[in-house]
Amino acid sequence: MTIQLQELLDSNRLWAKNVESQNPGFFTGLLAQQAPQYMWIGCADSRVPANELVGLLPGELFVHRNVANVVVHSDLNCLSVIQFATDVLKVKHIIVVGHSNCGGVSAALSDRRLGLADNWIRHVQDVRNRHQAWLDGIDPSQRVNALCELNVVEQALNVCQTTMVQDAWHRGQEVVVHGWVYGLHNGLLEDLTMTASGPEDVGAAYEKALANVRARYAARG
Ligand SMILES: [Zn+2]
Repeated sequence: MTIQLQELLDSNRLWAKNVESQNPGFFTGLLAQQAPQYMWIGCADSRVPANELVGLLPGELFVHRNVANVVVHSDLNCLSVIQFATDVLKVKHIIVVGHSNCGGVSAALSDRRLGLADNWIRHVQDVRNRHQAWLDGIDPSQRVNALCELNVVEQALNVCQTTMVQDAWHRGQEVVVHGWVYGLHNGLLEDLTMTASGPEDVGAAYEKALANVRARYAARG
């Protein structure tokens, strides 16, 4: 058994050397400040590494991840990250990114007990319950991925409703909220069209994104 995880530290040395050789002064340049344009709210799943999926370097993506990419109005962790992103970094885009075959979403769908995490996943069950009638009407094999997408739409709506994003919009700050889903099977990100750049966009964006999810799964059924 490797106790010191030396292979990871060695790998880090190699990575830093390669980055520095391709971009001399890269790390010292990041010392002064970070000025990312994008904030990513994604799942903690190890198969969905934020920067790598979109080819962004350190300093270019501000990231918050948790189980099933949930945005809760009383979660000080996520809210603090959104506040720093909007008020201090002034990111231009906040992207909620779910992924297919999400374990947290699957547990929520089937009422599977995991332990403490059940209390967190409860928020995804709220999404399931809101869309229960529609979910019951589609092919059972499609339900997990459909709920993954509905969850993105609902969590992006929650981002739009945070006081930080509302305040940013009211003072005329440019910040756009998006909802995307990542396919574990093909490595591709898809835009779920839950895109809002001001309070007046939110209702229509939500309805359009829901209609698109429903149309996509109706076509597959
Ligand atoms: Zn997940």
